[in-house]
Amino acid sequence: MKIVSAHAGTIPIKSSMSNAYINFSTMDCTIVALVSDVIVDGKPLVGYGFSSNGRYNATAILTNRMLPRLQAADPQDLLDDQGELSPEKAWAIMMSNEKPGGHGERSVAVGVMDMALHDLAAKAAGVPLYRWISDHYGDGAPDSDVFVYAAGGYYAPGKSYTDLQDEMKGFLDGGYEVVKMKIGGADLAEDCRRIEAVLDVVGGRGDRLMVDVNGKFDLDTALEYGRAIDQYGLFWYEEVGDPLDYRLNAVLSENYTHPIATGENLFSLQDARNLIRHGGMRPDRDYIQVDPALSYGLTEYRRILNMLSQHGWSSRRCIPHGGHQFSLHIAAALKLGGNESYPGEFQPTGGFTDDAVIAQGRVSPGDLPGIGLEGKSKFYEVLKDLHS
Ligand code: MG
Repeated sequence: MKIVSAHAGTIPIKSSMSNAYINFSTMDCTIVALVSDVIVDGKPLVGYGFSSNGRYNATAILTNRMLPRLQAADPQDLLDDQGELSPEKAWAIMMSNEKPGGHGERSVAVGVMDMALHDLAAKAAGVPLYRWISDHYGDGAPDSDVFVYAAGGYYAPGKSYTDLQDEMKGFLDGGYEVVKMKIGGADLAEDCRRIEAVLDVVGGRGDRLMVDVNGKFDLDTALEYGRAIDQYGLFWYEEVGDPLDYRLNAVLSENYTHPIATGENLFSLQDARNLIRHGGMRPDRDYIQVDPALSYGLTEYRRILNMLSQHGWSSRRCIPHGGHQFSLHIAAALKLGGNESYPGEFQPTGGFTDDAVIAQGRVSPGDLPGIGLEGKSKFYEVLKDLHS
């Protein structure tokens, strides 16, 4: 197997949403296609990658540093002992001559490449990615489906409580059982009214609702909101302070009883380890949301899972950010606790295959070879254009 050409691009993934911190009106995404010399049914196998959502494109880093290193390498150096494409070996080549620390958007560029390499490796083996990951890195017995929750509940001008409730009812009608909403973009009293409006829709069950602050609160506000919402018994209280403010998280965890979730803006093993060492995260109830696509790919994510295991954490306490098909495979293969989902948002990249069915809050990654982005017809058109 040899990569004969590589093609990168930037596409918009517009959304009208806003959270407590940013709007998504100019959000974009890096995409890549790695064309191989392996021909199946008269066509070359192509590995595809994209950069999740929430960070802007990292296309320049990818095309200036990661791709040239991969293309300059001896093709043999990308293969494992069985002569199969090794995303892990490719990862080390892409990261050669890079200083430690300062992960920034570099982790996004590497994550896109790592995704495409895994897509290609699984396609070369003729299996869906979850099967490939489970056989190579898991116990060979992947989960058949994965818990997913519907993330929405954003702020929008003129959005009423009824609008918010209708949005959440739509998620429940779509097969989801747990929903998530944004908080921190209004004052505490208003946010409590919004929370109670959504609780009315989920049968008054706090364990069917998550709230997400998107990193906005200082410690005082984090604790004030925590005191007010602890009574609801929510599924989780998400990314309450700045992602790198581990002390804030630690103090909050000493004062807030119910689960806390964070990590979608931590992009490396080192940052995730610092969260575990210093962030007060509780392995019996809290959740880690690192997004493999944003944080150096599955190769680094496996290191993070290993670190968590050393600290006594179950993989079931990991529910990645991003709502994409790549993490869905990883969740099934490595037995994570679930995966995020943004129904209808962040198109064309986001979400699962067109034929995916959400039932009782669970979904299967499907059985197309690789990640299966060929099963997302609008996205596949864009990906095909990249290299044809
Ligand atoms: Mg979030």
